[in-house]
Amino acid sequence: MALIVQKYGGTSVSDAERIRAVAQHVAQTRHNGHEVVVVVSAMGKFTDDLIVLAEQISPNNPDREMDMLLTAGERISMALVSMALSTVGVESASFTGSQAGIITDTTHRRAKILEMRPDRIREALDDGLVPVVAGFQGVSTERDITTLGRGGSDVTAVALAAALKADVCEIYTDVTGVFSADPRVAPKARQLTTVSFDEMMEIAATGGRVLMLRSVEFARRHNVPIHVRSSFTWEPGTWIVEEDPTMEEAIVSAITDDTSEAKITVAGVPDRPGVAATLFRELANNGINVDMIVQNTSLHNVTDISFTVAKIELEAAMTACQKVQQEIGAVTVTSDDQIGRVTIVGAGMKSSPGVTALMFETLYNNGINIEMISTSSIRISCVLHADKVGDAVRHLHSAFGLDAE
Ligand code: ADP
Ligand code: ASP
Ligand code: MG
Repeated sequence: MALIVQKYGGTSVSDAERIRAVAQHVAQTRHNGHEVVVVVSAMGKFTDDLIVLAEQISPNNPDREMDMLLTAGERISMALVSMALSTVGVESASFTGSQAGIITDTTHRRAKILEMRPDRIREALDDGLVPVVAGFQGVSTERDITTLGRGGSDVTAVALAAALKADVCEIYTDVTGVFSADPRVAPKARQLTTVSFDEMMEIAATGGRVLMLRSVEFARRHNVPIHVRSSFTWEPGTWIVEEDPTMEEAIVSAITDDTSEAKITVAGVPDRPGVAATLFRELANNGINVDMIVQNTSLHNVTDISFTVAKIELEAAMTACQKVQQEIGAVTVTSDDQIGRVTIVGAGMKSSPGVTALMFETLYNNGINIEMISTSSIRISCVLHADKVGDAVRHLHSAFGLDAE
């Protein structure tokens, strides 16, 4: 008998029929002799709809109230799934994140889990019930309701799996696993059988939204195996596991794309110590996450600094830059929201020369200009014009031999 945490994403619970299919699958898993904890997302695009509704009230709503609003989506799903379970003879009880003992910090809209106290979930399991937990939410140390960031139900599932020492965390979604590229962008993408935690971290961090980054970090830290699979076909999917040193590593295993960021360029700044420190301190003080950073070599002691931020934080980031513009002596601060990032990820890259050259040649041969570059030991990212992202993914996918037959 295994303990399995099963997380169902928005499309997996998008209507009554899908919810009934989920209940059937949970019943089958129980029938096979396993204990199950279910974690659910809001139905379909319900979270997006709630955000639009709130924007119709005001463009800047208090984060505390946004969290109150958004957590309602998962509450609806958890009750409906629990009802569906009872129709197929499975006894269950639903729990909010707070009731499930998910304790977070006080940062509304992207709270971090500080502690897990899933006593009620354990009791429910001991009583033979299937606990159904609302994903994406917790309760802060100040006793306010918080959310864990977009896509956060993945974190709920992995955190519960870790705290309950589950054997596996199954992530049910609308694709059959993790692919060598987003199958919606690259129709020739192939499904991967296994992916290491390290590779999955890079895939999630650079746009492969099939798993939220923080859930992969959590899984790696607590060594929770993740199985990403489809709630439409129920076939075996992709396993995210600790790297097996005997396994041959693919040089490039996936290509990702991300058009959620914008670029800011602070131009004509004097090349002296303290400039970058002042600029990025101001951004940090405003809670803005900076991603890629490029500083040019200076010509006549003057240089440019470019960096990327989430599009939704662009306005706040520009305000922060303009605030310190005079102090750091910058000539201009400009932004470009028509950019995208394309990344190649592969654990075997560490020991293979020529990967960077092939990436740049492929982009060049297809007339695609590179605006920024960043690397880690198992990843190379290029920032391009947003229009070129889809083509770049498809060309790189072919160039690195990833296309399915
Ligand atoms: P859920 O609502 O189930 O959490 P998401 O929309 O968050 O689902 O994640 C699934 C989507 O992730 C897929 O529909 C797919 O378009 C996208 N995706 C992006 N990159 C990849 C990839 N490398 N492999 C599989 N899916 C990917
Ligand atoms: N419903 C939330 C969102 O759309 C959380 C999730 O689905 O994981 O971001
Ligand atoms: Mg998701």
